[in-house]
Amino acid sequence: MAEEHTDQKRRVYPVSALSCYPPYPCRLVRSQRKTLAIEVRPGEEIIVRAPYKMPAQQIDQFILSKQGWIKKHWERAPLSQKDYTQEQETFLRAQAKALLPVMAERFGQLLGVSPSRIRITGARTRFGSCSAKGNICFSFRLMSYPQEAIEYVVLHELAHLIHLNHSPAFYALIAHHMPDYKERARLLKQVKAPVPQEHKGGPPCI
Ligand SMILES: [Zn+2]
Repeated sequence: MAEEHTDQKRRVYPVSALSCYPPYPCRLVRSQRKTLAIEVRPGEEIIVRAPYKMPAQQIDQFILSKQGWIKKHWERAPLSQKDYTQEQETFLRAQAKALLPVMAERFGQLLGVSPSRIRITGARTRFGSCSAKGNICFSFRLMSYPQEAIEYVVLHELAHLIHLNHSPAFYALIAHHMPDYKERARLLKQVKAPVPQEHKGGPPCI
């Protein structure tokens, strides 16, 4: 007998409740199987397969113990990959709304600045932007990158509230608060998420 029943009998949960971090789009599928398994579809989604009665906490711990493995496999997404499905976009937007303002608040305190407004966009050519009026935008696509890279983008945009350019003073400010920012910025190019990889240049962008 197959381990999994038909779709009607499967219980499928969005895994937003689980400690899957960085917040990859992730699904939990419960079935009559006896063990836990994780399937990574690079740049697409993560499927966690679990027995019906296994407590969520145990599943969480398992996912957490596999974070390094998940990250490694997630980053193997092919460049030719298609864009996100509607479901994935909804998930990533929700994650962006939950995480980025909190992160911006934290870095804002560090820099002594506060953005007028933070918006989540679907931008494909920029991970973030900052206007002269102090409005900051982040693309939901940023959420498919590692946390270190996300933190860099948030700090980068907030630093534009002090220097609205990419001058040496701007990067000196970033280096002061995030000495490893170059390595973090590199992650934005290495990870094969469905976002153009190049920095378009010219302020204010990343
Ligand atoms: Zn910039």
